Amino acid sequence: MLHIGCHLSCSNGYLAMGKQACTLGADTFQFFTRNPRGGSVKPFDAADAEALNLFRKEHHFAPILAHAPYTLNAASGDSSVREFAMRTMREDLERLDYLDDVMLNFHPGSHVKQGAEAGIRLIVQMLDEVYTPDIRTPVLLETMAGKGSEVGRNFEELRAIMEKAKAGDRLGVCLDTCHVFDAGYDIVNRLDDVLEEFDRIIGLDRLRMVHLNDSKNVLGSRKDRHEKIGQGSIGLEAMTRLINHPVLRGLPFELETPNELNGYAQEIALLRGLWKE
Ligand code: FE
Ligand code: FE
Ligand code: ZN
Repeated sequence: MLHIGCHLSCSNGYLAMGKQACTLGADTFQFFTRNPRGGSVKPFDAADAEALNLFRKEHHFAPILAHAPYTLNAASGDSSVREFAMRTMREDLERLDYLDDVMLNFHPGSHVKQGAEAGIRLIVQMLDEVYTPDIRTPVLLETMAGKGSEVGRNFEELRAIMEKAKAGDRLGVCLDTCHVFDAGYDIVNRLDDVLEEFDRIIGLDRLRMVHLNDSKNVLGSRKDRHEKIGQGSIGLEAMTRLINHPVLRGLPFELETPNELNGYAQEIALLRGLWKE
């Protein structure tokens, strides 16, 4: 079965997202752990978390994904921004411990003018501080488009973080199709080569999730503007190959396309139709 879902709002709580995912034809979903552009967070409701766990079990959900806020930047040169990143990730991981089969995805960060190497060192510092062995939730690094001074614009930078962090082999990767395409990886014409390169540099065993997005821009544009499935420069044929590729087809796919809920339901139905049993 194709495991597919989309980004949902957490404003009505955990169980509400599970039910919403079901009505959209999804068996997974993604949500922000807190306000993505600020960082404020609602009071935690453990009973609601447990209700979602039971609901997901009944409805045979695939793993779900929690997304850290965009304001979390462990690579910042500003120590107060780094402290916010550490506190936020720690608190988010404490909450996520109440949810079964969830992973936490974050954008590695932006080094601004310090250079990628310094950025990587700071990201590793944060992970060593907050991602301690007692935490069961897997943490994923997202592949980035490389806009501005984003760390994670290529597989080598993600590997560098995973190699240096103490949590090393507990870290995974979430591959964002729009981001890697914008970063210059030709998943339209050379998908096998890109996945081979991922395997050689990071290892395919680290690949845990896919953000399935089309792109408004061309290969290597370093832009990061998501498009609806089949309406961007990746296109429907390449999307069909992506969801059916032997190394990807078992992974959960999350849509982060510019859609309202009914648009997501349509894309989920479209992709389920394109998946080969
Ligand atoms: Fe993201
Ligand atoms: Fe993404
Ligand atoms: Zn993006």
